[in-house]
Amino acid sequence: MSGEAEITILIPCFNEEAVLPSLYSRLEALRADCSYRGYAYKFMFVDDGSKDDTRNLIKEFASTRDYVEYIFLSRNFGKEKAMFAGIEHIDSDAMVIIDADLQDPPELIPQMVELWEQGYDDVYARRRSRKGESWLKRTTSSMYYSLLQKISRVEIQRDTGDFRLLDRKCIEALRGLRESERNSKALFSWIGFKKIEFLYDRDERVAGKSKWNYFQLLHLAIDGLTSFTTAPLRIATYCGLVSSVGAFVYAVFILLRTLVVGVEVPGYASLLVFMLLLGGLNLLSLGIVGEYLGRVFLQTKERPNYLVQEMRLGDSAQRHSMRHGDE
Ligand code: UDP
Ligand code: MG
Repeated sequence: MSGEAEITILIPCFNEEAVLPSLYSRLEALRADCSYRGYAYKFMFVDDGSKDDTRNLIKEFASTRDYVEYIFLSRNFGKEKAMFAGIEHIDSDAMVIIDADLQDPPELIPQMVELWEQGYDDVYARRRSRKGESWLKRTTSSMYYSLLQKISRVEIQRDTGDFRLLDRKCIEALRGLRESERNSKALFSWIGFKKIEFLYDRDERVAGKSKWNYFQLLHLAIDGLTSFTTAPLRIATYCGLVSSVGAFVYAVFILLRTLVVGVEVPGYASLLVFMLLLGGLNLLSLGIVGEYLGRVFLQTKERPNYLVQEMRLGDSAQRHSMRHGDE
């Protein structure tokens, strides 16, 4: 796998004008590096509806270099869709997904390529440390992953993001997964293939702001859960079952007690507690069903995953250029 092999580096960008120049110079440095020889490197920037100068910067990079490709989406679709736009248009032997904010050091790419040369299809980076993250974020994320692993069938990679190298096999597999509610973590796990992790220190964002807040993280967590497994539906069923049996047993007990002891007025507290508990469980299970139903709803609309405003692809990828997401 050397010589003519082509590797595309995919960079989803959303309002990244502050970091793009330094990212670009580090990518260029890599291209020039000896360890890079023997591969044709391409950079594909997917702009996810940036409102700042990101597009102009990308066009500037592309203006004199034919190995810089870009896809500008018609609005902000979210990182998942932006990555999918890239995946749909990349026609290389391998691709590397990297964040624009330099949290994933581009200098690690040669190591990833080496592992790929050894025959691995999915070389994913696992965070050794979680610098710059609060204690709360670290513990909640660790609890979340243990829970997810327990109730899900596929193996889940902890402390990994989207920073990874994917072989053509994986790219094609991902292209074939056409769900509208994409959760790349679940999809990367689901496709399988020969995976290997390597540890790295995730840097802090060089400039600009992270686009995530706690509420969005919760949203992402629910997304992850519902796209990995339908176990919550079953949990809801079990909860319902247990509380119904409990309620039945309690009803029999009350009935017998009333027959033996007579009518008793106190009991307001226990009544209220049970009502609230059952009401809560009811709402929770309804909510869980709703989460899945919502996904069914979105999928049945069969809307495209994203729309392209403008794009420029190199020669080898030109044949995909008429694609517009999900058709
Ligand atoms: N991103 C994107 N669309 C979005 C939000 C983010 O393409 O709607 C890109 C962003 O430009 C960056 C990457 O996704 O390259 C990761 O985003 P961010 O750094 O905000 O996330 P974090 O590193 O905090 O998880
Ligand atoms: Mg970041």
